[in-house]
Amino acid sequence: MKWGLIGASTIAKEWMIDAIRSIGDEVSAVVSASESRAEDFAKHNDIKKFGTSVEELLLDPEIQAVYISTQNHLHKEQSLKAIRAGKHVLCEKPLALNVADAAGMVSAAEKAGVVFATNHHLRNAESHKALRRAVQGGVIGKPVAARVFHAVSLPPHLQGWRVADSENGGGVILDITVHDTDTLRFILNDDPVEVTAFTQVGELSVNGVADSVMGVIRFKSGLLAQFHDSFTAKYSETGIEIIGTEGTLVARNVMTQQPKGEVVLINSEGSRKLILEHVNLYETGVRDFSEAVAGRSQPAASGLDGLWSLATGIAVVEAARTCKATPVVIR
Ligand code: NDP
Repeated sequence: MKWGLIGASTIAKEWMIDAIRSIGDEVSAVVSASESRAEDFAKHNDIKKFGTSVEELLLDPEIQAVYISTQNHLHKEQSLKAIRAGKHVLCEKPLALNVADAAGMVSAAEKAGVVFATNHHLRNAESHKALRRAVQGGVIGKPVAARVFHAVSLPPHLQGWRVADSENGGGVILDITVHDTDTLRFILNDDPVEVTAFTQVGELSVNGVADSVMGVIRFKSGLLAQFHDSFTAKYSETGIEIIGTEGTLVARNVMTQQPKGEVVLINSEGSRKLILEHVNLYETGVRDFSEAVAGRSQPAASGLDGLWSLATGIAVVEAARTCKATPVVIR
């Protein structure tokens, strides 16, 4: 399959171009808002066609799918254009800046009969798949609580719009909390109902944008999930824990782009490591997307999954703003 890239982004350069090529697909064009950035990006990444017009890219009959990785406020319009042009769309999270827009994108794709997926890479990790298998297999009894540790140190080359531009989707919540939500939904097979949260404006923040957040998500089953997301934690370790009536699963170094980390089961028999055979998270996502386009499966994370993670992120933003428990609403 031939892909067009909408966005000359870091994530495309660092992970997604290789992922697309790894499954035998082709990256045939890239669009940037700047001609020189487009040309430079195309040259450095060996992409034949480049330009500044999304419309032109979408007119290319060879291109079947687009990967959208522009800044967050652009995802909605670019996705809708691509969907209307009959292209399959793999869109970065957050899908949009509000729930109504994301819901509109999901229903537009349904009507057009194209695959619309969200690039929530963490559910492609062997660690999270192992957690899901264990939880869904009843290994820890009834899951009652979860803890997500997703405090990282944002690398200098990413300290731009993410920490400065809340109007256009910057801030830690739409960047990281949405990933936590998707990962929890995937492992627990459960949906968020309401949230509470407090944010911090720390050393990386510009214009008061939140660069750390702590909060609690209540799920339909009654499970409470505590999360800590940050751009400013230089010496922290990531992880996720699922606490059940018959055991606890402790995963360390798993909230990451890298295929790594470990999962330990603790129960009445003691503790043991689960066997993991790590694979590239982005390659797995692209392969699933390609299979979905071929009609053989579903994408790893659908548009609806992206809608849920965004709705939860929006509720967390609101809860932090109002200091009140806030419902998660997807319509
Ligand atoms: P970048 O800042 O690298 O890229 C985003 C956009 O910024 C690009 O599309 C580009 O616009 C513009 N840009 C890049 N360099 C410059 C520059 N020098 N001057 C002006 N504009 C520039 O962001 P990321 O790659 O980190 O993130 C892109 C998207 O991917 C976001 O939505 C983010 O949430 C998501 N993401 C997802 C991850 C995942 O694992 N699923 C991980 C990281 C990010 P143009 O295209 O017009 O050139």
